[in-house]
Amino acid sequence: MDPRYPLEVEPFRKRVRAFLDEHLPAGWAGLGAIADRDEADAFVDSWRATLAANGFLGVAWPTEYGGASLSKLEQIVLVEELARAGVPAMGYNDTFSIKMLGNTLLRWGTEEQKRWFLPRILSGDDRWCQGFSEPGSGSDLASLSTKAVLDGDRWVVNGQKIWTSRAREANWIFLLARTDPTAKKHAGITFLLLPLDQPGVDIRPIRALSGDSEFNEVFFTDAVTDAANVVGEINGGWAVANTLLGLERGEEAATNPILFRAELDRLLALGTDDVVLRDRLADAYARCEIMRFLGLRILTGVLNNGTLGAEASISKLYWSEYHQRVTALALDLLGAQAMVLDGRLPLRAYRTDDPGAPDTTGSWVGAFYNATAGTIYAGTSEVQRTILAEQVLGLPR
Ligand SMILES: Cc1cc2nc3c(=O)[nH]c(=O)nc-3n(C[C@H](O)[C@H](O)[C@H](O)COP(=O)(O)OP(=O)(O)OC[C@H]3O[C@@H](n4cnc5c(N)ncnc54)[C@H](O)[C@@H]3O)c2cc1C
Repeated sequence: MDPRYPLEVEPFRKRVRAFLDEHLPAGWAGLGAIADRDEADAFVDSWRATLAANGFLGVAWPTEYGGASLSKLEQIVLVEELARAGVPAMGYNDTFSIKMLGNTLLRWGTEEQKRWFLPRILSGDDRWCQGFSEPGSGSDLASLSTKAVLDGDRWVVNGQKIWTSRAREANWIFLLARTDPTAKKHAGITFLLLPLDQPGVDIRPIRALSGDSEFNEVFFTDAVTDAANVVGEINGGWAVANTLLGLERGEEAATNPILFRAELDRLLALGTDDVVLRDRLADAYARCEIMRFLGLRILTGVLNNGTLGAEASISKLYWSEYHQRVTALALDLLGAQAMVLDGRLPLRAYRTDDPGAPDTTGSWVGAFYNATAGTIYAGTSEVQRTILAEQVLGLPR
């Protein structure tokens, strides 16, 4: 592990810092400092447009598809600098649009799909959501039962997806559907792209513990999509899905330590004379530092080998369980006050509230709720442990 970045990336880092100086509002204290939720959401939209206009979205994509053909290292430096400045590196749906689907299309898409969809993702014309999970298929995703049948020049889709994050803000969904019910479960699945704005699609919000409705149920009743909207081979969707799930971790090895450290600093600033709580704060500090070194180890692997290794599962397990500890500690520090919510909830249902967030109970209790979901989405802790046991330690199934 080498915790230093190569010097050749420094001019790019300077360019990003100059861009931030030029474009962030005077006195910028981080997205979390915008107290009004609608105002914060409007800022994220306009900031995304600023990133796009300046070539800072999809930066590692080839220029012919609207990207900037930058290196992986430059991409990492960019997200790191943005995280440090307390601004998002993308819009709310872009985890699905850019990180997951866009990068998957680069690997699996046809030339026509890349030329059509990738620029529309960067411009924001298309916003995507992920239709994988079903009421009976989560960890065992390959057991899914939503069906698609090829009827002339279009696919007809019937079934139900669940926990579909940000589906109401999206206009397209990428989904897995069973296209050969006679094949073995992994071998009869196709990866489809489907427009949401049609009579055959019904999106119903699910209200979470926090009161927010970031995810949804999506029902398909004879919903249709063009025959050409298959990614990869017909019945070969499982391989495409695996590529996509690997991409979900993205550059979080670089940004997580910054965001979790900013959150921990807010917690340390709350202060306490209680020796037990002080001991737990010290423990959280040590764990946060371990996360930073784990991140550096992963980044070193990505830069040397070009791919995320098994460390990605260690990282997912580590940050999600760390976050439950630290947000539970926040509630213990706040004491009885935590029972009365004040201020807005975090802007997203994932990970920390944004840097600069105030010490309202809305922020801390909301982060506590979000942390509860962290060990479930993107692969549960049990599933991560199984991956590590079987694929890293070589233990028997
Ligand atoms: C906030 C949030 C956002 C989400 N967004 C999306 C989205 O946008 N799109 C989407 O498709 N899905 C989304 N999901 C769904 C997510 O992918 C699933 O919740 C996850 O895969 C787990 O599936 P499940 O909920 O069906 O639980 P199950 O798979 O039913 O698991 C229930 C319990 O059994 C355990 N378990 C299951 N199998 C095993 C095993 N083999 N060995 C040991 N233990 C096991 C699990 O660890 C868990 O504790 C989201 C979930 C959350 C919480």
